[in-house]
Amino acid sequence: MKILTIVGNRPQFIKAAAVSGPLRERHEEILVHTGQHYDDSLSRVFFSELGLARPDRELGIGGGTNTSQTARMLSALEPLLDELSPDAALVYGDTNSTLAGALAAAQARVPVVHVEAGMRSFDRTMPEELNRVLSDHLAALLLCPSQTAATNLHNESVDGRVEVVGDVMVDVALRWAPAARDDLASPAAYDVEPGAYLLLTVHRAGNVDDPARLGMLVKLIRTLPVPIIFPLHPRTSVRLQDAGLLEQLEAIDGLQLTEPLGYVEFSSLVHHARAVVTDSGGVQKEAYLAGVPCVTLRVSTEWVETVEAGWNTLVDLDAPLALAALDRALPAARPPLYGDGHAAQRCVQAIDALERPS
Ligand code: UDP
Repeated sequence: MKILTIVGNRPQFIKAAAVSGPLRERHEEILVHTGQHYDDSLSRVFFSELGLARPDRELGIGGGTNTSQTARMLSALEPLLDELSPDAALVYGDTNSTLAGALAAAQARVPVVHVEAGMRSFDRTMPEELNRVLSDHLAALLLCPSQTAATNLHNESVDGRVEVVGDVMVDVALRWAPAARDDLASPAAYDVEPGAYLLLTVHRAGNVDDPARLGMLVKLIRTLPVPIIFPLHPRTSVRLQDAGLLEQLEAIDGLQLTEPLGYVEFSSLVHHARAVVTDSGGVQKEAYLAGVPCVTLRVSTEWVETVEAGWNTLVDLDAPLALAALDRALPAARPPLYGDGHAAQRCVQAIDALERPS
């Protein structure tokens, strides 16, 4: 089959890196990069590091509001689908690229495969939640990382076929885990001791777009124990600069602000951290897999199992709660979650069984 894969942002490059290899053994894949993340540190580095093939088409659509970005992607994808006439379209996760890819394909009567289907935070103020719900209802094949996700889809009576395949991001995380564990050079490069620093990432619109919330975030960061390594997402960097708050962070002794890091270095810093403090979806999961406690700067999460297992604590932007979470004793057990590292093969097997409607 001819599969049109549509990706656009950092976690999607990582997920596509897991699936693309096994997919190309059996099918023709055409990779489209929407341009949602165009910055080298959020885009190019993942292609070179994780061995993802260069995109066949680059749409160059970044910036703007969620609505205008999605609309521009739809306009660009419609003629592309017409030109390429794929047998299926493959989308990942919950971004504007996911929704635009799913909607443009469904309108063209091209079956949509959604990887990481069924994830829900049940918080419709999150743009990602809107993208997830809508993409799931457009998909013909819904590939879920967990049973919880499949149950969510059954509760919503989606139309497409639902399969639990495990999490393709876990495939990548498990592949790199031994190297990350062995790599002591990465923490040393920041002059921090393994097990003695916090790794911080923040980029969710709900935390950085509203100046009042951004102020609370900076206050929280100022109460956290140092040393802290904080790779700054470009969106967060711009918001901090606009609000005049970046200097406050730069003034904290023991807080190291960096550019966004490549996957391998970041993964190594996760493995050796005392704890991870984040509002990222993927990072919550990677901390769990690495056996590192996570403090999540949100009120809800799609990765509920990590919270139930006691390794992840939701604190929103409440500084005392964050400090208390950092002092929590580690749970005795860390049950395996989200698959065995072979989710990508299961995705491809499920895609093999797809048939194009007449
Ligand atoms: N990541 C990275 N470098 C960084 C921060 C994160 O490679 O400086 C990786 C991280 O390992 C994870 C993914 O980016 O695999 C998470 O992406 P992000 O937080 O942007 O998105 P989300 O998962 O919240 O959708």
